[in-house]
Amino acid sequence: MMGGVFLPARRNPLVVPSAAPAAPLARERSAMAATAPAVVADARRIELPAVQEELAPMSAAEKAAAMDALRQEALACQGCPLGKTRTNLVFGEGDSNAQLVFVGEAPGADEDACGRPFVGRAGQKLSEMIVAMGLRREDVYICNVLKCRPPENRTPAPDEVVKCWPFLARQLQIIRPKVIVTLGNPATQTLLNTTIGITKIRGQWQKLPEIAPGLGGTPVMPTFHPSYLLRNYNVETRGMVWSDLKQVMEFLRLKK
Ligand code: URA
Repeated sequence: MMGGVFLPARRNPLVVPSAAPAAPLARERSAMAATAPAVVADARRIELPAVQEELAPMSAAEKAAAMDALRQEALACQGCPLGKTRTNLVFGEGDSNAQLVFVGEAPGADEDACGRPFVGRAGQKLSEMIVAMGLRREDVYICNVLKCRPPENRTPAPDEVVKCWPFLARQLQIIRPKVIVTLGNPATQTLLNTTIGITKIRGQWQKLPEIAPGLGGTPVMPTFHPSYLLRNYNVETRGMVWSDLKQVMEFLRLKK
Protein backbone atom coordinates (compact mmCIF):
# COMPACT_ATOMS: atom_id res chain seq x y z
CA MET A 1 0.00 0.00 0.00
CA MET A 2 1.49 3.35 -1.05
CA GLY A 3 -0.51 5.64 1.23
CA GLY A 4 0.76 4.50 4.62
CA VAL A 5 4.40 4.12 3.86
CA PHE A 6 5.40 7.10 5.92
CA LEU A 7 3.41 6.20 8.94
CA PRO A 8 5.52 5.72 12.07
CA ALA A 9 6.98 2.23 12.45
CA ARG A 10 4.58 1.13 15.15
CA ARG A 11 1.79 1.65 12.63
CA ASN A 12 3.75 0.45 9.64
CA PRO A 13 6.34 -2.26 10.21
CA LEU A 14 7.73 -1.76 6.70
CA VAL A 15 9.59 1.32 7.81
CA VAL A 16 12.90 0.97 9.63
CA PRO A 17 13.08 4.36 11.28
CA SER A 18 16.37 4.19 13.14
CA ALA A 19 18.64 3.15 10.28
CA ALA A 20 20.48 6.48 10.19
CA PRO A 21 23.04 7.47 12.84
CA ALA A 22 22.26 10.27 15.26
CA ALA A 23 22.60 13.67 13.63
CA PRO A 24 25.93 15.36 14.27
CA LEU A 25 25.99 19.00 15.26
CA ALA A 26 25.25 21.39 12.42
CA ARG A 27 28.45 22.31 10.67
CA GLU A 28 29.33 25.76 9.49
CA ARG A 29 29.80 26.47 5.83
CA SER A 30 33.58 26.68 6.13
CA ALA A 31 33.74 23.28 7.78
CA MET A 32 31.53 21.87 5.05
CA ALA A 33 33.80 23.31 2.41
CA ALA A 34 36.81 21.80 4.15
CA THR A 35 35.30 18.34 4.15
CA ALA A 36 33.76 18.53 0.67
CA PRO A 37 35.34 16.19 -1.81
CA ALA A 38 37.23 18.05 -4.53
CA VAL A 39 35.06 16.54 -7.24
CA VAL A 40 31.54 15.22 -6.85
CA ALA A 41 29.74 13.70 -9.81
CA ASP A 42 27.05 16.38 -9.96
CA ALA A 43 29.00 19.04 -8.16
CA ARG A 44 28.02 22.62 -8.87
CA ARG A 45 28.46 25.53 -6.55
CA ILE A 46 26.49 28.41 -7.91
CA GLU A 47 27.41 31.97 -7.04
CA LEU A 48 24.10 33.42 -5.91
CA PRO A 49 23.49 37.14 -6.31
CA ALA A 50 23.21 39.13 -3.09
CA VAL A 51 19.72 39.84 -1.83
CA GLN A 52 20.11 43.08 0.09
CA GLU A 53 16.75 43.86 1.57
CA GLU A 54 16.20 42.96 5.22
CA LEU A 55 12.48 42.51 5.91
CA ALA A 56 11.06 43.76 9.20
CA PRO A 57 9.13 41.20 11.27
CA MET A 58 5.61 40.78 9.82
CA SER A 59 2.24 39.56 11.05
CA ALA A 60 0.66 36.53 9.36
CA ALA A 61 -1.60 38.83 7.32
CA GLU A 62 1.34 41.01 6.27
CA LYS A 63 3.27 37.90 5.25
CA ALA A 64 0.36 36.68 3.12
CA ALA A 65 0.12 40.09 1.42
CA ALA A 66 3.89 40.24 0.86
CA MET A 67 3.81 36.75 -0.65
CA ASP A 68 1.00 37.75 -3.01
CA ALA A 69 2.93 40.83 -4.12
CA LEU A 70 6.01 38.69 -4.73
CA ARG A 71 3.95 36.24 -6.78
CA GLN A 72 2.83 39.12 -9.00
CA GLU A 73 6.47 40.08 -9.54
CA ALA A 74 7.36 36.49 -10.41
CA LEU A 75 4.46 36.33 -12.87
CA ALA A 76 5.99 39.20 -14.79
CA CYS A 77 9.53 37.78 -14.69
CA GLN A 78 11.23 37.08 -18.02
CA GLY A 79 14.69 36.87 -16.46
CA CYS A 80 15.54 33.64 -18.27
CA PRO A 81 14.14 31.79 -21.30
CA LEU A 82 11.97 29.53 -19.10
CA GLY A 83 9.53 32.42 -18.72
CA LYS A 84 8.64 31.91 -22.38
CA THR A 85 8.50 28.11 -22.44
CA ARG A 86 6.50 27.58 -19.27
CA THR A 87 2.72 27.09 -19.32
CA ASN A 88 2.24 28.39 -15.78
CA LEU A 89 4.38 29.95 -13.14
CA VAL A 90 4.75 27.55 -10.20
CA PHE A 91 5.46 30.06 -7.48
CA GLY A 92 4.82 27.98 -4.35
CA GLU A 93 1.92 27.40 -2.00
CA GLY A 94 0.97 26.87 1.61
CA ASP A 95 1.14 28.88 4.78
CA SER A 96 3.30 31.98 4.34
CA ASN A 97 3.67 31.94 8.13
CA ALA A 98 4.72 28.26 8.28
CA GLN A 99 7.30 26.84 10.66
CA LEU A 100 8.39 24.38 8.01
CA VAL A 101 9.27 24.90 4.35
CA PHE A 102 9.98 22.18 1.78
CA VAL A 103 12.16 23.25 -1.15
CA GLY A 104 12.29 21.11 -4.28
CA GLU A 105 14.07 21.47 -7.57
CA ALA A 106 11.76 22.77 -10.29
CA PRO A 107 8.24 22.17 -11.58
CA GLY A 108 7.61 19.14 -13.77
CA ALA A 109 4.95 18.67 -16.43
CA ASP A 110 2.05 18.22 -13.96
CA GLU A 111 3.03 21.28 -11.99
CA ASP A 112 3.57 23.36 -15.14
CA ALA A 113 0.10 22.38 -16.33
CA CYS A 114 -1.68 23.62 -13.21
CA GLY A 115 0.67 26.15 -11.61
CA ARG A 116 0.99 24.31 -8.29
CA PRO A 117 4.13 22.70 -6.81
CA PHE A 118 4.44 18.96 -6.20
CA VAL A 119 1.13 17.73 -7.58
CA GLY A 120 2.40 14.79 -9.70
CA ARG A 121 3.63 11.40 -8.48
CA ALA A 122 6.49 12.95 -6.51
CA GLY A 123 4.02 15.43 -5.10
CA GLN A 124 1.73 12.65 -3.95
CA LYS A 125 4.68 11.10 -2.13
CA LEU A 126 5.59 14.45 -0.57
CA SER A 127 1.99 14.81 0.61
CA GLU A 128 2.23 11.39 2.26
CA MET A 129 5.44 12.45 3.98
CA ILE A 130 3.78 15.60 5.30
CA VAL A 131 0.73 13.68 6.55
CA ALA A 132 2.97 11.11 8.24
CA MET A 133 4.51 14.02 10.15
CA GLY A 134 1.05 14.83 11.48
CA LEU A 135 0.67 17.89 9.26
CA ARG A 136 -1.39 18.95 6.27
CA ARG A 137 -0.04 20.52 3.12
CA GLU A 138 -1.73 23.78 4.17
CA ASP A 139 0.34 23.81 7.38
CA VAL A 140 3.67 24.02 5.56
CA TYR A 141 5.02 25.98 2.62
CA ILE A 142 6.11 24.14 -0.52
CA CYS A 143 8.19 25.69 -3.29
CA ASN A 144 11.06 25.06 -5.66
CA VAL A 145 14.41 26.56 -6.55
CA LEU A 146 13.02 27.34 -10.02
CA LYS A 147 9.55 28.73 -10.51
CA CYS A 148 9.28 27.70 -14.17
CA ARG A 149 9.61 24.24 -15.69
CA PRO A 150 12.88 23.44 -17.44
CA PRO A 151 12.09 21.71 -20.75
CA GLU A 152 12.23 17.89 -20.55
CA ASN A 153 12.56 18.20 -16.77
CA ARG A 154 16.30 18.72 -17.06
CA THR A 155 18.31 19.84 -14.03
CA PRO A 156 18.14 23.61 -13.49
CA ALA A 157 20.98 25.42 -15.28
CA PRO A 158 23.19 27.66 -13.10
CA ASP A 159 22.06 30.86 -14.86
CA GLU A 160 18.41 29.91 -14.29
CA VAL A 161 19.11 29.34 -10.58
CA VAL A 162 20.87 32.70 -10.35
CA LYS A 163 17.94 34.52 -11.99
CA CYS A 164 15.30 32.77 -9.89
CA TRP A 165 17.18 32.90 -6.60
CA PRO A 166 15.88 36.30 -5.40
CA PHE A 167 12.32 34.91 -5.47
CA LEU A 168 13.22 31.94 -3.26
CA ALA A 169 15.31 34.14 -0.97
CA ARG A 170 12.44 36.57 -0.53
CA GLN A 171 9.92 33.77 0.01
CA LEU A 172 12.12 32.51 2.83
CA GLN A 173 12.66 36.03 4.18
CA ILE A 174 8.88 36.52 4.34
CA ILE A 175 8.17 33.16 5.98
CA ARG A 176 11.22 33.03 8.29
CA PRO A 177 10.65 29.29 8.88
CA LYS A 178 12.04 27.41 11.87
CA VAL A 179 13.21 24.60 9.57
CA ILE A 180 13.80 24.14 5.85
CA VAL A 181 13.75 20.64 4.37
CA THR A 182 15.67 20.52 1.11
CA LEU A 183 14.58 17.78 -1.27
CA GLY A 184 17.40 16.35 -3.36
CA ASN A 185 20.62 17.72 -4.78
CA PRO A 186 19.70 20.97 -6.55
CA ALA A 187 17.77 22.40 -3.59
CA THR A 188 20.36 21.24 -1.07
CA GLN A 189 23.38 22.39 -3.04
CA THR A 190 21.84 25.74 -3.91
CA LEU A 191 20.68 26.65 -0.43
CA LEU A 192 23.74 25.35 1.39
CA ASN A 193 26.18 26.59 -1.25
CA THR A 194 27.84 23.22 -1.28
CA THR A 195 28.91 20.60 -3.76
CA ILE A 196 28.38 17.71 -1.34
CA GLY A 197 25.95 15.17 -2.75
CA ILE A 198 22.62 14.41 -1.06
CA THR A 199 23.60 10.83 -0.22
CA LYS A 200 26.44 12.13 1.97
CA ILE A 201 24.70 15.08 3.57
CA ARG A 202 21.12 13.87 4.11
CA GLY A 203 19.93 13.33 7.64
CA GLN A 204 22.49 15.75 9.10
CA TRP A 205 21.38 19.12 10.41
CA GLN A 206 22.89 22.02 8.51
CA LYS A 207 22.61 25.79 8.84
CA LEU A 208 21.67 28.12 6.05
CA PRO A 209 24.64 30.31 5.21
CA GLU A 210 24.10 34.09 5.31
CA ILE A 211 22.71 34.06 1.77
CA ALA A 212 20.19 36.79 2.42
CA PRO A 213 19.66 39.08 5.41
CA GLY A 214 17.79 37.34 8.21
CA LEU A 215 18.20 33.84 6.84
CA GLY A 216 21.68 32.86 8.04
CA GLY A 217 21.65 30.08 10.61
CA THR A 218 18.18 28.73 9.74
CA PRO A 219 18.26 24.96 10.40
CA VAL A 220 18.17 22.87 7.23
CA MET A 221 17.47 19.15 7.00
CA PRO A 222 18.50 17.75 3.62
CA THR A 223 16.72 14.60 2.50
CA PHE A 224 16.13 12.64 -0.67
CA HIS A 225 13.82 14.06 -3.32
CA PRO A 226 10.50 12.14 -3.43
CA SER A 227 11.25 11.27 -7.09
CA TYR A 228 14.44 9.54 -5.99
CA LEU A 229 12.46 7.74 -3.34
CA LEU A 230 9.99 6.53 -5.96
CA ARG A 231 12.84 5.31 -8.16
CA ASN A 232 14.46 3.51 -5.22
CA TYR A 233 11.40 2.33 -3.41
CA ASN A 234 12.76 0.01 -0.77
CA VAL A 235 12.73 -0.31 3.00
CA GLU A 236 16.19 1.21 3.37
CA THR A 237 15.51 4.41 1.41
CA ARG A 238 12.08 4.89 2.97
CA GLY A 239 13.62 4.37 6.40
CA MET A 240 16.27 7.01 5.69
CA VAL A 241 13.72 9.62 4.65
CA TRP A 242 11.50 8.82 7.60
CA SER A 243 14.46 9.11 9.94
CA ASP A 244 15.24 12.58 8.48
CA LEU A 245 11.63 13.69 8.89
CA LYS A 246 11.52 12.40 12.45
CA GLN A 247 14.44 14.64 13.31
CA VAL A 248 12.45 17.58 11.99
CA MET A 249 9.42 16.48 14.00
CA GLU A 250 11.55 16.30 17.15
CA PHE A 251 13.02 19.73 16.50
CA LEU A 252 9.58 21.27 15.96
CA ARG A 253 8.13 19.23 18.83
CA LEU A 254 5.49 17.75 16.56
CA LYS A 255 3.54 14.86 18.06
CA LYS A 256 4.91 11.45 17.08
N1 URA B 1 9.70 17.97 -8.48
C1 URA B 1 10.10 19.12 -7.91
O1 URA B 1 11.25 19.28 -7.56
N2 URA B 1 9.19 20.07 -7.75
C2 URA B 1 7.93 19.95 -8.11
O2 URA B 1 7.16 20.88 -7.91
C3 URA B 1 7.53 18.72 -8.68
C4 URA B 1 8.44 17.74 -8.87
